Amino acid sequence: MTHDELIGKVGALNVWKRGDQRAPHKPLLLLLALGRLQQQERRLMPYAEVDPALRELLIEFGPPRRSIHPEYPFWRLQNDGLWMLAETEGLRRRRSNTDPTRRTLLDNEVAGGFPEPVYDLLRREPALIERIAYLVLHEHFPASMHQDLLDAVGLSLDTRQTTRRKRDTDFRGRVLRAYAFRCAVCGFDLRIDNRTIGLEAAHVKWHQAGGPDVEANGIALCTMHHKLLDRGAFRITPAYRLLVSERVHGTGGLDEWLLRYHGTPVQQPQRTSYHLEPAFLSWHVREVFKGPERAAALP
Ligand SMILES: [Zn+2]
Repeated sequence: MTHDELIGKVGALNVWKRGDQRAPHKPLLLLLALGRLQQQERRLMPYAEVDPALRELLIEFGPPRRSIHPEYPFWRLQNDGLWMLAETEGLRRRRSNTDPTRRTLLDNEVAGGFPEPVYDLLRREPALIERIAYLVLHEHFPASMHQDLLDAVGLSLDTRQTTRRKRDTDFRGRVLRAYAFRCAVCGFDLRIDNRTIGLEAAHVKWHQAGGPDVEANGIALCTMHHKLLDRGAFRITPAYRLLVSERVHGTGGLDEWLLRYHGTPVQQPQRTSYHLEPAFLSWHVREVFKGPERAAALP
């Protein structure tokens, strides 16, 4: 298996289609498997492990459906040359297009994963994992979902790191919890059922710059405030006050998203040990914030 062959197979992924309905099953299984591979996990995953993980992904990133079928791609991705199942005695071989049921996969403890040539190639060349993941994301999901997807499967597409640090996939959960699942700036905490939406764990010191995945470097922000923080539109002082850059201007949204918070307190985390470390805040001021800040807010 060569690079080009593998990329060709991923590009040609045969996704079930009906009109413009979405079927992200195979892409999500691929991303899940790539995440596991990047975390040095073994090649074959038991279906019993894949089922709940892929179900979660399908619920969160897939289209709304009455029934969720993680078993479909686990079987059908074999046809794309990107997947194989370990032989098990009890699994009835299906020659027609009748898939084995979820129950059959579970009862027979079927395991699946990348075929060995694919696995070996990806293990030898970790950069190819990122390329494949990017291709899958780019092909199947809008950009606004990419980071959420990567976080969900524990994949890092950080190409600038020479030695990959194992990313703490739990970072998001810990940071959101530290801030009680609300944007620390505006209090945004929208949910669909019990899932937060548009709420993110922002690194104050960017991951790309070596910022660690710890609470002291993370803050819960809504998508907009995350973006504005990363673009340097505002900064947070060690005393947890928000200061807006003098360089930010506009008419629609400026006041609602920024100026009304200028000079006001940002919500603090639930424990003092979670407080943002001043060193990370000052990195942000140095490397990101579009200073100087505006004059102090009017009382
Ligand atoms: Zn916000």
